[in-house]
Amino acid sequence: MSEKTLWKPTFTTRKRDDLTDAEARALICELCHHFYQQGWASGTGGGFSVRSGERIFMAPSGVQKERMMPEDIFVLNMDGEVIEPPQTPGLKVSACQPLFMHAYKLRNAGAVVHSHGMYAMLATLIYKENFVISNQEMLKGIQGVGAFDKHEVPVISNTAYEEELTDSLEEAIKAYPKAQAVLVKGHGVYIWGRDWMHAKAQAECYHYLFEAAVRLKQLGLDPSRGGLG
Ligand SMILES: [Zn+2]
Repeated sequence: MSEKTLWKPTFTTRKRDDLTDAEARALICELCHHFYQQGWASGTGGGFSVRSGERIFMAPSGVQKERMMPEDIFVLNMDGEVIEPPQTPGLKVSACQPLFMHAYKLRNAGAVVHSHGMYAMLATLIYKENFVISNQEMLKGIQGVGAFDKHEVPVISNTAYEEELTDSLEEAIKAYPKAQAVLVKGHGVYIWGRDWMHAKAQAECYHYLFEAAVRLKQLGLDPSRGGLG
């Protein structure tokens, strides 16, 4: 019986195409552990994927994301096909696989976060249609967005199986070129960035904005105006 390899914090400053295989695998484990602590990946939900060149690293499906090890990670090509299965037997690739691939292909993403964060889920329910917010300093953290811009994030309907979201997620990514995220009603959010550091920062800013919107709504203020006016 082989010993499992404990992941260690990578402390890497490499961001994307020069990431080594070992760093990419360790980063997924480290960041999934971190995202679990944020409440974004409880109950085996959520996920994270990172890219180095044409190699896509992805977590397996239905596992405890905070306890993953480097040998549990799948490697896929840019067509979404598994080119290196994990050493750990019996694992299935993430149900998010086709959704992550859309962000890689349509937006040239370097990493993608899927979160089941409570405020991301609640934020999908406080508007009739899409999520809208403005007049928030943290908007500056979203690529290409200013603090006073009205920023819109598409909300798509949930489906019984995660992979069935593929077509509507693709349409939403194409229809909202300024958004770095797509929300899924009563479910959570997909957020991407040009590399893993950028994706992590985008995810943190978006989660702040989702929580701000829910709390503004609770205060009787209009989140689409950032609580002003
Ligand atoms: Zn999900």
